[in-house]
Amino acid sequence: MAVAYNKRTHRCGELRRPHVGQHVTLAGWVNTARDHGGMAFIDLRDHTGITQLRFTPDHAAAHELARSLHNEDVIAIEGMVVSRGEWTNPKLTTGEIEVEVTNIDVLSRCDPLPFQVNDDFEAGEDLQLRYRFLHLRRPEMQEIFRLRDRIARAIREFFHEHGFVEIETPFLTKSTPEGARDYLVPSRVRAGTFYALPQSPQLFKQLFMISGFDRYAQIVRCFRDEDLRLDRQPEFTQLDMEMAFVQREDVMDIVEACVQRIFKDALNIDIPLPLPRMTEHEATERFGIDRPDTRFGLELLDVTDLMHEVDFNVFREAIDKGGVVKCIVASGGDKLTRKFTDALAEELKGMGGAGLPLTKVAQGAGGVELQTGIAKFLQPIAAKLCQKIGAVTGDTVFFMPGTNADACKYLHHVRTRLGTILDLIPKNKWDLLWVVDFPLLTWDEEEKRWASTHHPFTAPLDEDLHMLDTDPGKVRDKAYDLVLNGTEMAGGSIRIHRKDVQTQVFRILGISDEEAKEKFEFLLDALRFGAPPHGGIAFGLDRWVMKLAQANSLRDVIAFPKTQRAMCPLTNAPSPVSKKQLDELYLALKPLPNK
Ligand code: ASP
Repeated sequence: MAVAYNKRTHRCGELRRPHVGQHVTLAGWVNTARDHGGMAFIDLRDHTGITQLRFTPDHAAAHELARSLHNEDVIAIEGMVVSRGEWTNPKLTTGEIEVEVTNIDVLSRCDPLPFQVNDDFEAGEDLQLRYRFLHLRRPEMQEIFRLRDRIARAIREFFHEHGFVEIETPFLTKSTPEGARDYLVPSRVRAGTFYALPQSPQLFKQLFMISGFDRYAQIVRCFRDEDLRLDRQPEFTQLDMEMAFVQREDVMDIVEACVQRIFKDALNIDIPLPLPRMTEHEATERFGIDRPDTRFGLELLDVTDLMHEVDFNVFREAIDKGGVVKCIVASGGDKLTRKFTDALAEELKGMGGAGLPLTKVAQGAGGVELQTGIAKFLQPIAAKLCQKIGAVTGDTVFFMPGTNADACKYLHHVRTRLGTILDLIPKNKWDLLWVVDFPLLTWDEEEKRWASTHHPFTAPLDEDLHMLDTDPGKVRDKAYDLVLNGTEMAGGSIRIHRKDVQTQVFRILGISDEEAKEKFEFLLDALRFGAPPHGGIAFGLDRWVMKLAQANSLRDVIAFPKTQRAMCPLTNAPSPVSKKQLDELYLALKPLPNK
């Protein structure tokens, strides 16, 4: 018999002991159905939880129908809340009660399922994404997207409360140089030309500042055609913001306060402010990377000085070439087996490294005695070395000779592996910090030219401006990256607001005056007509959700994500289009290369 499903009295996770005796109307999905002959039970699920329904022969029609139900059928019921007495189910929030059903209405039946919603068996990713609507029914997925909503809401509310204006920027636009490949959209009206989907609204938000909006913030989709890894998606969402008349501190202060709000609203966690700040130089020296995971130690130590005295070719060569020898000291000998260190050395080789020289510290009759690995080369300076790096009996010391950049890169990898195997990384710790003073430019060895460390609109530090022409590699910038547990969560900068400086930076980047005019004339124009000093930041919303949900992949926190091959198994995009559509665009397809 029809049940007024639009007049649900409660949701499925709401009923408790005080509701006993009440007549209720519920609707939802059959999570499980059990038929005990005389009595049938159904666990009814919606986004709030599960209520157990009981069907008895007293209400013969309802009982009969209930016995025909299968998982994921959609039903609405009327009934009376009764106590379960002693038979409570502590696993359910509603476990003290059940509903004795008097009337049931089957609203829709479910075909045999490609995978069950009610268990956590992980179907293959293609199947999960092909039937994403089913996968999203699972409570843990519902949880993630409700967390995502809380985070987005916290961000929106925060910025509105702080005087930011939300304005949309175009999707059909011109390519901006964020460093990735653009997604192109052919124009029909001007056949032969293309829009690019924005990699970020960078230039538009700068224009807003020049237009006098003072403070802008937008949660916006961005598009980058990159090879996909677990933490990349072709389209992703950023919180993008910009402020006028500010210095670095002002942007960082506002962002910190927003991050504090996100943690509070989303997870009820208090983040103390101000957040620590570290220069890029210090981060790299101590942790081997500009986005350090500061939840654990194992910092890099420089032993180049001591190694001058050592007769070991591999170290000597590195030092003679102007390189360094750095090391990490780790305790916890039992876990650092030969098998583990050999595998680690292989991983480094896979990254382009040469191996992983190491030694172990022991106590000999005459004092410190080094064992295994390169012990024999280092024994003459054993005592001095151990004193300098604080190594004691039982420790293993991992060395890396090479250019400073290589030593840092490889030891960062070693540090991360050691942190994991030695169980040094606390799970529920949130280590946030700012990294500042990056080099404005990075030398691109392949292309033999300077590239922006962030993007070409990042301002140099005032005190370094004089070196821009003479020693560009030394110039530091006004950028700031926000790092959480070793992941870059946000990046931004104070921008160049003077046309002469912007033009000079373009030239250093090898962008000719003509190319600059062709690509960025509108920006250079805007800089001519009264540009206030300004700066901002963007943070990857998906990545924040992934971190806060402690999810493994960005795909878990995006409702309809793409696979590693940038495909959507749900809609089958991208897919071929008709000849007519191509003709309208004056496009013809080249034959595809044979795979
Ligand atoms: N537009 C930059 C990005 O998307 C962030 C910024 O500088 O504000 O990486």
